[in-house]
Amino acid sequence: MDINIAQNLENIKQQLPKGVELVVISKTRSHGEIMEAYDTGHRIFGENKVQELTAKWEALPRDIEWHMVGHLQRNKVKYMAEFVSLIHAVDSLKLLREINKQAKKYDRVINCLLQMKIAQEESKYGITLDEIASILNSEDYQNMKHVRVVGLMGMATFTQDQDQIKREFSSLHQAFNGLKEEHELHILSMGMSGDYQLATECGSTMVRIGSSIFGPREYQ
Ligand SMILES: *Cc1c(COP(=O)(O)O)cnc(C)c1O
Repeated sequence: MDINIAQNLENIKQQLPKGVELVVISKTRSHGEIMEAYDTGHRIFGENKVQELTAKWEALPRDIEWHMVGHLQRNKVKYMAEFVSLIHAVDSLKLLREINKQAKKYDRVINCLLQMKIAQEESKYGITLDEIASILNSEDYQNMKHVRVVGLMGMATFTQDQDQIKREFSSLHQAFNGLKEEHELHILSMGMSGDYQLATECGSTMVRIGSSIFGPREYQ
């Protein structure tokens, strides 16, 4: 079946409430597929693997805003510090320290989100609300000049149970509301192809969507 990327993108944008930002998740997609989305005027794309992210940054137009949405190892930060515009899944002070260090080399301030664990699956990453608060309140973080935590991110359990997904998103939204004034947070990244409508109902300000735009992925 033919997939009309531009049309799918348009449909999703029309459904999103005003003010909700769309990150088009382009992992595993070809440059041609990404350019079909780009040619509609869309500029925000996300990847979950550092190597793929840097290769696409090098090959594709420079006005693309690249987000790193996957789990990030400290030793990989250096490859994207020059250009990444938002890192979604930060889960430790140590990682923030490394991002700060690498961003300094380019005289940049890199925006980040802290990933809160809301899913029940063991396989999903993230930290607790207490750990998030302790990072934000730490002197160590507050002295970092090249990294800024601008919000939170989370992934719901992969389940058909809408009530469970709703509970998980709501807990993240509540955590966000409790922290946002004091710590100047303005981005709540939650919602993917399967659950973005629920996520926006629960207060998401940024959704990360791949398969609903490009069709099913053949591999992760
Ligand atoms: C792959 C991925 C998405 C998008 O998933 P789809 O189901 O294709 O929309 C969103 N967030 C993260 C962190 C991902 O790795």
